Amino acid sequence: MIHKEKKNAVFASIVENQDKRTPTQRPSNPRNRSEQNTNSNGAGRKNARTRQRGQSFRSSQMKHRHPIKPKKEVSHNIPPIGDNLRIIPLGGVEEIGKNMTVIEYKDDIIIVDAGLQFKEADTPGIDFIIPNVKYLMERKEKIRGLFITHGHLDHIGAIPYIIDQIGNPPIYTRQFGALMIQKRQEEYPHLPALQMKVIDGNEKILIGKHFKVETFPISHTIPDSMGLIIETPMGKIAFIEDVRVDNMAGVPTEEEVRQYEKFKKEDILLLTMDSTSIEKPGFSISETLVTENIEKIIKDVPGRLIIGTFASQVERIISIIEAADKYGKKIVVDGRSMKSNLEIIKQLELLRTKNVIPINEINNHKPDKIVMIATGAQGEEYAALMRIANKTHKEISLNRTDTVLLSSSVIPGNEYAITKLKDNLYRSEAKVITYRDSDIHASGHGNRGELEWIHKQINYRFFMPVHGHHFMLRQHAELSQVSKNTPPENVVIPDNGSIIEIYDEGKKIKILEAKAPSGVMMVDGFSIGDIQEVVIRDRKMLAEEGMFVIIASVNTRTGKLKKSPDIISRGFVYLRESQDLLQQTRLIIKKTVEETTAGMNPINFDFVKNNVAENVSRFLFQKTAKHPIVIPVILGV
Ligand SMILES: [Zn+2]
Ligand SMILES: [Zn+2]
Repeated sequence: MIHKEKKNAVFASIVENQDKRTPTQRPSNPRNRSEQNTNSNGAGRKNARTRQRGQSFRSSQMKHRHPIKPKKEVSHNIPPIGDNLRIIPLGGVEEIGKNMTVIEYKDDIIIVDAGLQFKEADTPGIDFIIPNVKYLMERKEKIRGLFITHGHLDHIGAIPYIIDQIGNPPIYTRQFGALMIQKRQEEYPHLPALQMKVIDGNEKILIGKHFKVETFPISHTIPDSMGLIIETPMGKIAFIEDVRVDNMAGVPTEEEVRQYEKFKKEDILLLTMDSTSIEKPGFSISETLVTENIEKIIKDVPGRLIIGTFASQVERIISIIEAADKYGKKIVVDGRSMKSNLEIIKQLELLRTKNVIPINEINNHKPDKIVMIATGAQGEEYAALMRIANKTHKEISLNRTDTVLLSSSVIPGNEYAITKLKDNLYRSEAKVITYRDSDIHASGHGNRGELEWIHKQINYRFFMPVHGHHFMLRQHAELSQVSKNTPPENVVIPDNGSIIEIYDEGKKIKILEAKAPSGVMMVDGFSIGDIQEVVIRDRKMLAEEGMFVIIASVNTRTGKLKKSPDIISRGFVYLRESQDLLQQTRLIIKKTVEETTAGMNPINFDFVKNNVAENVSRFLFQKTAKHPIVIPVILGV
């Protein structure tokens, strides 16, 4: 029978060590403790959730397995701003996603965008990543406003997680973005109300003592996208985030030409611009052509048409709904983000038709009168299209008269998921049309030719590419040097957290050596922070190497093992076929425990656990070349 108090003391230190690497005497987390079990056999399963590893074992193991960049945040060595103009991209320049840029002059700060990035392969289990806002938290009182260029999540998605931390400044946004922001915010009712300032596509706003912001409409894929001209005492900064150039066979439309006409009489100090599609040559196909092609398919299909596209393609969705109406067809919308965007479309009366019906009325109409718009064209696991494809959708099962149209390109990283989706769709015998078969998708981000055209409309001194991976920014910088003869010293290529200063009355630009904190901030379930490297590292190790739990009962008086230790492992080796390995491991555990405890009174359990973890880990590596997470649980009885 386990001595109750002793057992709890052991558990306390197990739980403790999960977040702190040194064993201290803080009280344990009651939630974790409630997961413990009282009988020593059953304890195995539940204890697997807690862990204990010796510090020495952990650090030596980590060194060669998963090197971690030291993330020392050095915000204290940032020099005072003086009379310079500061521009700091906090996100969006080492990735596609989490766009956020700070502009600072004397006592005033304004921010452009506050986006999120979806998780990457190297952050397992993480919901998404947001910009690091420590620099802003330390300068809250200077923040005059947050400007939102448009309502996509990579520009607004971080708002619920950061707005409170940066002092809830006013948010300047056009109407569509405002509704997108409000809708998201409803999911976080504990947060204070946002200070929304809905502005227009052509407006001038005085803000703080030093800034005047002028907005102008630009083309993208969502209504109310805008660029900014930020007037500072040093000169004007033109902010052109996500942008494309509407064109017909490479010739910009009249409206595009008109949108950039204002720059003819402007001298721009610094231009910053989207680099997402810099690798693609020429002009992208026009959205008008895309819409025409989709309309033709809508007209000609013999049965139901199911269109998979991005919910963020708001303008295309509107066109599809209207085209369907033209041919007397009803629209069904499926997928959470798609429905939510449709609500905003309706709320803003952007739709002239009334042909959208609820999904449960789908069978009241002939199949050739139904067009469905669904999320999941990237093969997202639980999105509508995937459920249709793998036959788990409640209302739709595909048959040979259906047509599925994938109106989206393949986002790098999603290739595998899309392959699975396509396999499943083709198995259904429905006809499948992808963007490779027909011009049914155009990106919202201008190709190289479009970006070059915009560069040529604007007279600027300095250039800073944004919105893209580092290589994209490099290519965009090159474009500026080649097409605009921008001298290399006038082009800056930032990293997240780079502090760029314009000085000498606007004649010079430099990147400071000191950086704003830029460690990754992750949203993981309910917690947000930059201290979860340990958790991510564990998830990676669990995924790659599995885990190995040892439960051993030690006689506190003699230091001998009470019985042969229990071993539980997941994702490591198949235990039933590894009896030899288990037997030898048990011997090592027994030997380690009994040698370590010999003459020890009272027994230092942490010390024993460290030794067991170290020895077992070394042994398992020798035998299997795998490094499972070894979790010893030593019970005093
Ligand atoms: Zn966008
Ligand atoms: Zn974007």
